[in-house]
Amino acid sequence: MTTNNQILLNNLERLGLNKIREYLPNYLDQIHTDNLSLTEALIDLTNSELQNRHEGQIARAIAVLGFPNTKSLDTFDFSFQPSINRQEVLEFQNLAFMEKSENLIFIGNPGVGKTHLAISIGIEACKQGCRVLFINCHELLIRLRAAYEKGLLDRSLSRYSRYDLLIIDEIGYLPIGHQEANLLFQLVNARYEKHSTIITSNSDLSAWVDIFQNPTVTAAILDRLVHHVHVVKITGKSYRLRGLK
Ligand code: ADP
Ligand code: MG
Repeated sequence: MTTNNQILLNNLERLGLNKIREYLPNYLDQIHTDNLSLTEALIDLTNSELQNRHEGQIARAIAVLGFPNTKSLDTFDFSFQPSINRQEVLEFQNLAFMEKSENLIFIGNPGVGKTHLAISIGIEACKQGCRVLFINCHELLIRLRAAYEKGLLDRSLSRYSRYDLLIIDEIGYLPIGHQEANLLFQLVNARYEKHSTIITSNSDLSAWVDIFQNPTVTAAILDRLVHHVHVVKITGKSYRLRGLK
């Protein structure tokens, strides 16, 4: 025999209201205990369904934005990196820097948490509805170069310059040829004073001329990037090697 409860659960399933379906059995008891009105109960249940959908949308969005994994500032151990101004970094989560189209540059040796911080801020921006892309610098330059060779550079530059937040990870791990440096300059120039860019690098800005191997293009890139910038220099040890003496 089909009980009313089963009919209700079937209906919820057919309507795709899965969170309500999951909550309902326990919730029915709570309705009696707390003496909730039908309206109050429906508000609670529909809120849980909406919250679940919102989280699903965020998770799907994050999955396609290029993040290598998900990180959060909640799991960042600031006591391990005393050179970081914790307050300054926590404030980046409020995204005020994006309203002012300011850039962030995280500099430090491998393993000090640059990518972790960049991802955390990027995910926060994504949760707040911004269009974000996380991309490795080498990969970005390969894509720009391919677009250039196909005669599609303008289209590609306009696509990358439209993101509210572009995170370019690992500038400086590999040397950058003249043509690629020029493409990067064009991208940085297209985003200049319009949208924020976050960059991570293992090289001090003063050593970027060695990466781009050309003082003129280095100066041009730096000029646009650092005009409105917060530079976070991390001078501590690698978190990856924290167990080693
Ligand atoms: P980097 O980009 O500077 O080379 P990562 O951000 O990739 O370093 O950090 C390496 C690993 O260590 C990641 O898994 C990261 O989450 C973790 N990690 C780095 N610093 C911290 C920290 N202070 N607290 C917690 N985890 C950290
Ligand atoms: Mg990194």
